[in-house]
Amino acid sequence: NPIIQIKNVYKHYGDLTALNDVSLDIEKGEKVVILGPSGSGKSTLLRSINRLEQIDRGQIIVDGENIVDPANDINKIRQELGMVFQSFNLFPHKTVLQNLTMAPMKLKGVPKDEARETAMRLLTRVGIPDKAGVFPSKLSGGQQQRVAIARALAMNPKIMLFDEPTSALDPEMIGEVLDVMVKLAKDGMTMVVVTHEMGFAREVADRVVFMDYGQVVEVGPPTHFFENP
Ligand code: ADP
Ligand code: ADP
Repeated sequence: NPIIQIKNVYKHYGDLTALNDVSLDIEKGEKVVILGPSGSGKSTLLRSINRLEQIDRGQIIVDGENIVDPANDINKIRQELGMVFQSFNLFPHKTVLQNLTMAPMKLKGVPKDEARETAMRLLTRVGIPDKAGVFPSKLSGGQQQRVAIARALAMNPKIMLFDEPTSALDPEMIGEVLDVMVKLAKDGMTMVVVTHEMGFAREVADRVVFMDYGQVVEVGPPTHFFENP
């Protein structure tokens, strides 16, 4: 079974149809990149997957759980879904280490020592083990985004959602964040990525989804989109 099943989803904001009959299945381990013009519904679709947006019609099933069903515990489902935003959204008054350990300790009851150990391993993985004790404001944008990725991974999610993770970064910092994402992809993580980085789409995506006016208008392998005639 696909790990994410999106079936005939509609989402309206007043008169505006942000998602118009969107259906899409995503397999475990698959890397899907969502492309499309600004306002085409990419972010709304991504946010609907962990119910940051509530859909009006249709079904979204994540790892066998219907996220729309109020009987299902959305907090439990969200633990399977790591999300990374354009604006890093770190807690400014917590150190990098605390940013990584807080949720696992509070939401999953992970003991402090174990949470710290995991956090340090993840900081090493994203290349900034030396930043554990500092506050986010002391970090570059690229470093903050790498912390945000590590923080999402600290919950040990099955799926990672990225909403324009490099769009707020200075150009010289985009590469260091993409490198972390490429590594994650190679490790087999299921990833859904909204990005304007065509190089990432071309090299990492198993499938590219092109959206326009709230609809999925094309789905195919990257070669389908980036072939040079
Ligand atoms: P994209 O990510 O492709 O740029 P979005 O999903 O952010 O597109 O937005 C899709 C459409 O829905 C846009 O027209 C946007 O203005 C509108 N929209 C998004 N969020 C809201 C909201 N909270 N209230 C009203 N309209 C919204
Ligand atoms: P991003 O590109 O990071 O998704 P957006 O500017 O699209 O940022 O959206 C930022 C926030 O504003 C989101 O919560 C989104 O739902 C909301 N939003 C986007 N478009 C509109 C809109 N037309 N009216 C009201 N809220 C909107």
